[in-house]
Amino acid sequence: MDRAAKPHFALIPFTGTISHVIPMADLGCLLAAHGAEVTIITTPVNAAIAQSRVDRAQSHGATTTITVTAVPFPAADAGLPEGCERMDLLRSQAEVPRFFVANKGFGEAVSRHCLGEALRRPSCVVSGACQTWTLGLARQLEVPCYVFHGFGAFALLCIEHLYRHRPQEAAALADDELFDVPALPPPFRLRLSRRQLPPHFMPTTSVAGKALQGIRDFDVAADGFVVHTFEELESGSTALLAEATGKKVIAVGPVSLCCAPSLDPRLVSNDDARRCMAWLDAKAPKSVVYVSFGSFGRMPPAQLMQLGMALVACRSPVLWLVKGADSLPDDVKDWLRENTDADGVAGSKCLVVRGWAPQVAILAHPAIGGFVTHCGWGSIMEAVAAGVPMATWPFFAEQFINEQLIVHVLGVGVSVGVTKPTENVLNATTDAAGGSQGEADAEVGMEQVKKAMDTLMDQGPKGEERRRKAHELKLKAKSALEKGGSSYTNLDNLILSFL
Ligand code: UDP
Repeated sequence: MDRAAKPHFALIPFTGTISHVIPMADLGCLLAAHGAEVTIITTPVNAAIAQSRVDRAQSHGATTTITVTAVPFPAADAGLPEGCERMDLLRSQAEVPRFFVANKGFGEAVSRHCLGEALRRPSCVVSGACQTWTLGLARQLEVPCYVFHGFGAFALLCIEHLYRHRPQEAAALADDELFDVPALPPPFRLRLSRRQLPPHFMPTTSVAGKALQGIRDFDVAADGFVVHTFEELESGSTALLAEATGKKVIAVGPVSLCCAPSLDPRLVSNDDARRCMAWLDAKAPKSVVYVSFGSFGRMPPAQLMQLGMALVACRSPVLWLVKGADSLPDDVKDWLRENTDADGVAGSKCLVVRGWAPQVAILAHPAIGGFVTHCGWGSIMEAVAAGVPMATWPFFAEQFINEQLIVHVLGVGVSVGVTKPTENVLNATTDAAGGSQGEADAEVGMEQVKKAMDTLMDQGPKGEERRRKAHELKLKAKSALEKGGSSYTNLDNLILSFL
């Protein structure tokens, strides 16, 4: 197909977290592999990440019809340091509103770019959920606007029902009292407490609540959802979501399978990454527990200590990703130094990685037997694609919903038993009121964590059954993206709809 005739997708991820940029860059690689032209538009800092995903796909022989375009992010205009283009780069929670002011300015710059001569007119805009300004852009371009949330279909379905039926607003409900999310057909049953709700349901009287209402309005006005899932995964949730919203729902995942995870030393760029792959090479098949809470999740020091003590006491070797290690109190740093290994000595029991870990490659490594996860949807999809059972430790957002899908519907997880969200999400050591975020108590004790890990790695019939189901999902995930598979066909049909 000549380039001018190819449908052209403008992908505009939410810039706030790496975990929004990664799957949209992978989605771009998939669309391009299916014959579309793709332009990924993001900020300079995030463009480097998107470009590395595109380079990886191209090194595996994929197409050259992807362009990553960096549009400046006006951080300084909003009173932020230059280069502060993601929320994990902010210095405190108090800077979050400034980030969103800068993001609005970024939207204006992106719109100028897309409406100008520099960009071939897109056939479709696929937008990150918080980039609500893309709707006006798509309308000016007279093309459809699809939203890519990065959430799964089941979580989006539950959020839709929570908006429609509002069980959380029952007057007598206490914050930690469980209620049923209505209108979910079997095999689903979801019980949540108010404090486990996604942030969408913050009071609309607050500043954040008003912004979140803008995101809801965007969803309602958009033309459909491109969802990071595959149809066989979530027990019919994609069809239920289409029915509940009256919109097109296009399942395209797992996007991390856009190319094989690479262990090529040219691509695994940092020392930490090389060290942890070498450490894994020395371990027995399915023996290691990988522990990670996403691209920016960190827990209060008291909780981190309980987790750490469980990790060194459990029966399995552990690969532990610790974010924000530099800002931990000295006594916790000392404990980590004395009880874990940071150098990747081949025989060591608990390897701590402080930098950026090659998660997709780690999960695909034959030594990995289980994954303690915060239930971020990107991580879940990567674990599903690798056939790895999980122990679930939800932090915030829609992760308490994801936990119930993994444990009760899919049967590939063990719950650690966390009931409260972990709010300590940014680099910041102080919150908006100037108080320390590091003083929160541990909700989950060492024994409870260790029990969940031992159950996860259990060699008895229940553990075997979880491993069997996880393996089955891995095969289904792979088939979904093979010729004739559900996600493969959905990608083809999406592109064909613009010819
Ligand atoms: N990730 C990674 N290396 C790290 C930390 C995270 O590759 O050191 C990737 C991970 O593979 C996933 C994403 O970051 O693609 C995390 O996304 P998720 O939705 O699980 O969680 P979030 O970061 O949004 O909380």
